[in-house]
Amino acid sequence: STPLVVVENLKKYYGKTSGFFGSGKRNAVKAVDGVSFHMYAGETLGLVGESGCGKSTTGRAVLYLEPPTEGSVTFDGQDLGEMNREQLRQLRKDMQIVFQDPYSSLNVRMKIRDILAEPFQIHGLYPGQEAQQVKHLLELVGLPEGSLDKYPHEFSGGQRQRIVIARAIALRPKFVVCDEPVSALDVSVQSQIVNLFGQLQKELDLTYLFISHDLSVVRHVSDRVGVMYLGKMVELGNKADMFQKPLHPYTQALMSAIPVPNPKLQRQREKITLRGELPSPMNPPKGCRFHTRCPWAEERCRQEEPVWREAEPEHWVACHLVK
Ligand code: SF4
Ligand code: MG
Repeated sequence: STPLVVVENLKKYYGKTSGFFGSGKRNAVKAVDGVSFHMYAGETLGLVGESGCGKSTTGRAVLYLEPPTEGSVTFDGQDLGEMNREQLRQLRKDMQIVFQDPYSSLNVRMKIRDILAEPFQIHGLYPGQEAQQVKHLLELVGLPEGSLDKYPHEFSGGQRQRIVIARAIALRPKFVVCDEPVSALDVSVQSQIVNLFGQLQKELDLTYLFISHDLSVVRHVSDRVGVMYLGKMVELGNKADMFQKPLHPYTQALMSAIPVPNPKLQRQREKITLRGELPSPMNPPKGCRFHTRCPWAEERCRQEEPVWREAEPEHWVACHLVK
């Protein structure tokens, strides 16, 4: 099938204007440095990696909330880079984002009724019928009707995230970037919100880019999984392959750290401990960026950047040692 979202060689650099900070030597932070992947309609692509690896920046750049420094994003066959302001504004109906902290993304002075009616007003949709639409949104996310005249602070963290999700789906988007959407919530509440995402995906035919540092959450929600390291995608494949037979040494280390329910299995599968610290994205190692921590690094890895390629059907990886 044709992908819904195609991301090609996406780059996002910050602070490139040399001299602006009073020092011509300041390096650009290459937050995202040449990432390519595609997404199919109705799927969830989990995006994992340590904090600072560029997951969130990728999510925002894909939506053009922060236009990429280089590269392209195609949504439903349209190149976002060729759109004008108004076209991008219209595109917000199709592409939305849910952030980690539901409190900071809600206007604390607005009642829920008004928070949820706002997207309709901005886009001039359902004039005179916003109230009905708002009620329907509440039902979809499982909040009682009595919520409408309350303010965000009157809700628990989980309920607030339901409100944020209701607002994100108000315009019936096709694609939602979920950026650590359950990380700020109590573990007991996390699974309820994860289930809500799943239920809404079925009901509304949503496609998710689900960003999380939590591999057990990603394992639960994803159809496919992408792993990022220092601004690069290092591996992407279907969930079973990624968790059971990862190809990239970094993915192998990440996966080896997940506790296995059966302790006998845990002993068979040795935990791989990475040496060294995570290098700064201001000054990433040359060659393969992972070479300073990779147990298998050889001379070539220090010199030559591995190519991002499809090693097996629909299983992508960037590593010299993968056949
Ligand atoms: Fe390790 Fe070399 Fe593969 Fe990089 S290219 S992950 S350093 S083996
Ligand atoms: Mg982040």
